[in-house]
Amino acid sequence: MSLRENLASVRERIERACQRVNRDPASVVLIAVSKNQSADRIAEAVDCGLTLFGENRVQEAKAKVPLCSGRARWHFIGHLQSNKARDAASLFDMIQSVDSLDLGSELQKQADKLARTLRVLLEVNVAGESSKFGWHPEKVLTELQAFNRLSRLELHGLMTVAPYSSDPEKVRPIFRRLRELRDRCADQLGAPLPELSMGMSGDLEVAIEEGATIVRVGTALFGPRVRPVAAEEGA
Ligand SMILES: *Cc1c(COP(=O)(O)O)cnc(C)c1O
Repeated sequence: MSLRENLASVRERIERACQRVNRDPASVVLIAVSKNQSADRIAEAVDCGLTLFGENRVQEAKAKVPLCSGRARWHFIGHLQSNKARDAASLFDMIQSVDSLDLGSELQKQADKLARTLRVLLEVNVAGESSKFGWHPEKVLTELQAFNRLSRLELHGLMTVAPYSSDPEKVRPIFRRLRELRDRCADQLGAPLPELSMGMSGDLEVAIEEGATIVRVGTALFGPRVRPVAAEEGA
């Protein structure tokens, strides 16, 4: 299947999921996860009308972004090390994966140097998996006020990576808990937190039914990833 055909099928999946829960398909933003994809492949995606790309390694993005169309916009979705915060703050429109207050402070410092505001989401480890980064749900609530004082960071919502399951219904409770946590955070801040980034190739329908506003899709668009050996090093 070509990228164009894959995109049509992903859009159709998004539309059907939206219909089931009476949502406007325009309320779901599709991020094309372009990690391990070449600049040529990304150019092809831009030709198909995709403009939002997700990368999970700063080094890889730093090399690719200058080779890609100026129409492309970049979201960071991987674990970010503090020593890469400076590059991340200049490359990305949004950091979806802020997983600690310390990282937030570092991004604040770098965004301040660049005199820019940075849109961010907090990554929550809803299922408490030891293999994953992200905030413990209760810790988000206790650190939210402190985070909100980071003036260069614009907090738009929450993000999660659900545990892998061959049965997407199994992860529905994870998505639901992220939405409930978002609602509690918004209450605490007294301000809306509109974005919920959840759902990937295998489970985007369930995520949309539970309120996802951003889905991050890699394999269903680009096909199976071939992981270059060089990309194994660092983030
Ligand atoms: C790789 C990745 C995705 C995309 O996963 P697919 O199953 O290929 O759609 C989404 N989110 C994050 C954080 C990822 O690292």
